[in-house]
Amino acid sequence: MMIYEGKSVFEGIAIGPLYIYKKEMQSVKRVKVEDTEAEKARYKEARDKAIEELKVLYDKAVIEVGESGAEIFEAHQLMVDDEDFIESAEGIIDTENVNAEYAVAQTGDNFAKMFSEMEEEYFRGRAADIKDITERIINALCGGSLGGIKSDEPVIVVADDLAPSETVQMDKSKILSFVTVHGSANSHTSILAKTMGIPAVISCPVPLSDEVNGHMAIVDGYESKIYVDPDEDVLVAKRKLLLEEEKKKNLLDTLKGKENVTLDGHKINLYANIGDIKDLGLVLQNDAGGIGLFRSEFIYLGSNDYPTEEEQFQIYKQVAQTLAGKKVIIRTLDIGADKQADYFKLPKEENPAMGLRAIRICLSRPEIFITQLRAILRASAFGKISIMFPMIISVEEVKKIKEIVESVKKELDKDGISYDKDIELGVMIETPAAVMIADDLAKEVDFFSVGTNDLTQYTLALDRQNQSLDDFYNPHHPAILKMLKMIVDAAHKHGAWAGICGELGADLKLTKEFLAMGYDELSVSPSRILPIRKKIRESSLT
Ligand code: PEP
Ligand code: MG
Repeated sequence: MMIYEGKSVFEGIAIGPLYIYKKEMQSVKRVKVEDTEAEKARYKEARDKAIEELKVLYDKAVIEVGESGAEIFEAHQLMVDDEDFIESAEGIIDTENVNAEYAVAQTGDNFAKMFSEMEEEYFRGRAADIKDITERIINALCGGSLGGIKSDEPVIVVADDLAPSETVQMDKSKILSFVTVHGSANSHTSILAKTMGIPAVISCPVPLSDEVNGHMAIVDGYESKIYVDPDEDVLVAKRKLLLEEEKKKNLLDTLKGKENVTLDGHKINLYANIGDIKDLGLVLQNDAGGIGLFRSEFIYLGSNDYPTEEEQFQIYKQVAQTLAGKKVIIRTLDIGADKQADYFKLPKEENPAMGLRAIRICLSRPEIFITQLRAILRASAFGKISIMFPMIISVEEVKKIKEIVESVKKELDKDGISYDKDIELGVMIETPAAVMIADDLAKEVDFFSVGTNDLTQYTLALDRQNQSLDDFYNPHHPAILKMLKMIVDAAHKHGAWAGICGELGADLKLTKEFLAMGYDELSVSPSRILPIRKKIRESSLT
């Protein structure tokens, strides 16, 4: 047995034969030509063919992984038609009197090199896309097309690296897992693997030799390991794990597309909590009705500097478009306390959980807040976005926030930028003060979302970060449950809706109680959606 360790991109177990995937590289020869115009015409024809292929791939990907996962094939179409690329390749044909294949290969190499030397990781990642479209055009010039895998049984695909088009071209029913020797977690292939929900491990030094082709292997996406020719005891243990995983998944999968409704007809919305656009695949896979909490501060935490309006806009837009009209609740920056980014230069505090954090930072540094609000509002033209504000303690704060939102809307109007004029505004109820004034807050907003993680810490005076307090941290405390009831009642009294987005929302022991209290929404980690749906569908409130 050989064990190889890499980086897991998607968790899960796969057991099956290895399939060593090697690209069928077209060997490109440099050929002198007389008629350069004819070569350029061949190049144009090949581009058209490549674009046709990419359109087919796009349609296929939309069905398999959704619109956002398929976007890469739209981007590739644009790259095939990129003016700089075409100019460079045609220039080589003209000046060197050479065949189109050679000119395209040469241009592809130059462009890929240029991208791979760029500082920003995102652009370095685009080098793989350049290689991908270059190969596609060359294949079109040679009359070939890029192929999938040739196997009658499902396999674990092992490759040096995989271009997104190769990934999506493969027949999914034949793929148990992806393993790549190279590749970055940011590559579109990793993103697609995640969206497809296939266990995937990258940066894994599995030998790409014909000798291991067809050998039995196990991919353990939990341990980020590949076992080639596994010992019998390992195989037995992993088979057991796989069986359990499949049983659970199959049962839950039957609930996809079903309503979150109790036996006696009570309904509730089940949304997902995410911190990254990388979680979108899970949101779709687990059939979330929307996103109830997008922890936008993770965008700031993942940056070395304040993310720009444009950077944020692109992210929010992607989320909104992916959810295709389903609700996406973006929580504004909740930085501070345990979530620190150096460039904010926040003062060292004795008591950071009670310090300068979340909305307090936004209100004291409005330029940061306004940048984020502009990005969110602009993205609201691309889907159904709501905005939610964290750590609220007073009506005055909410009034101030609403004034700022109005002024940002006016600016956008002035700039002729569209946004959802009726965008919903809500607040998190996560301080005892907010609970006590819930009646007044409800008059100001469209919805409440209860942050039980912080509400528990502030109500019970227990630092949620302090492990030694774990035994005392009790979100089932009667004080919390009473508060939950007060919150939903206050919301409904004033025509607002109420949800729970703290961890308690996923507590199956309380699902029925939340329904009975009248909650309209629970927002939980994507993997919790189907278990809660199951619980709801088995429950009756009467
Ligand atoms: C909460 O406090 O319950 C909440 C959802 O917010 P966070 O965990 O991000 O503080
Ligand atoms: Mg909180």
